[in-house]
Amino acid sequence: MREILFMEPVFKTMIWGGNKLMTDFGYEIPSENTGECWAISAHKNGDCIVKNGTYGGKHLSELWQQHRELFGNLKGETFPLLIKIIDAKADLSIQVHPDDQYAKEKEQGSLGKTECWYILNCEEDAKIVIGHNAKDKVDLRNMIADKRWQELIRVRSINKGDFFQINPGTVHAIKEGTMILETQQSSDVTYRLYDYDRLDHGKPRELHIDKSIDVINCPHTDISVSGKTTHSEACEIEELISCDFYTVSKISLHGEQEFHQESKFLNVSVIEGSGEIDGTLIKKGDHFILPAGYGNYHMKGDLQLIASHV
Ligand code: ZN
Repeated sequence: MREILFMEPVFKTMIWGGNKLMTDFGYEIPSENTGECWAISAHKNGDCIVKNGTYGGKHLSELWQQHRELFGNLKGETFPLLIKIIDAKADLSIQVHPDDQYAKEKEQGSLGKTECWYILNCEEDAKIVIGHNAKDKVDLRNMIADKRWQELIRVRSINKGDFFQINPGTVHAIKEGTMILETQQSSDVTYRLYDYDRLDHGKPRELHIDKSIDVINCPHTDISVSGKTTHSEACEIEELISCDFYTVSKISLHGEQEFHQESKFLNVSVIEGSGEIDGTLIKKGDHFILPAGYGNYHMKGDLQLIASHV
């Protein structure tokens, strides 16, 4: 089908959210604490609506159920990926996600969550949490019981344009002053390990210590990302990661070029600049799906895009 599916994002207010989804991306946001923009999602907690064309007004989940041909007749009960933009004005809780098997058993058949982060923007001294320093589960349990958080948690500095893969079982947290584009399995299962003893409406948010200890990988190992790059005159395509659940690439276009979309569908987010795809204007903050079998397409402009497929 030769129709591009533009998505209407869904926004989420979070205690740690800010207003950069409005000031940086131009979205109309529901509050001054808007933490997440669910940009391409068919998850029941935030199901995007198609903005345009034949399928205008339909939820992405409906298209997945009724028009599987748009997605290359891929198998599976739910649209597999979820693309978010996150604005962390304050620290997010320190958390961990289960894998598919654990989530299926313990979370009513939900998918596990593998996720990856492209740093869209951050403050000069911004930091992030990935990994921990416990050598085994006994050590982990003791450090948690003794609240030795500083000793346990691995904090690292980040810069705009950095990329991180977060596998299930990885302790992680986005920290204040960071905007990221997240590509993840379509899952909303998070185990909160530590929330800096903060209060939300006067009460601490629920922690999930036992489930966290169950799923945390010990010892932690870092994942290296791929960084394979192809160049042409107008375009650079950097493959950021390819894992069992997704392949994510960054496309930088300055000028114009023909592309080809094959049997898979492609999720695309415009993260910088403006231009055109097959004569349709696109700009920073737009998110769309190129259906499977779309074929050749033409893009021009000064654009930075993050694209993903299964
Ligand atoms: Zn996470």
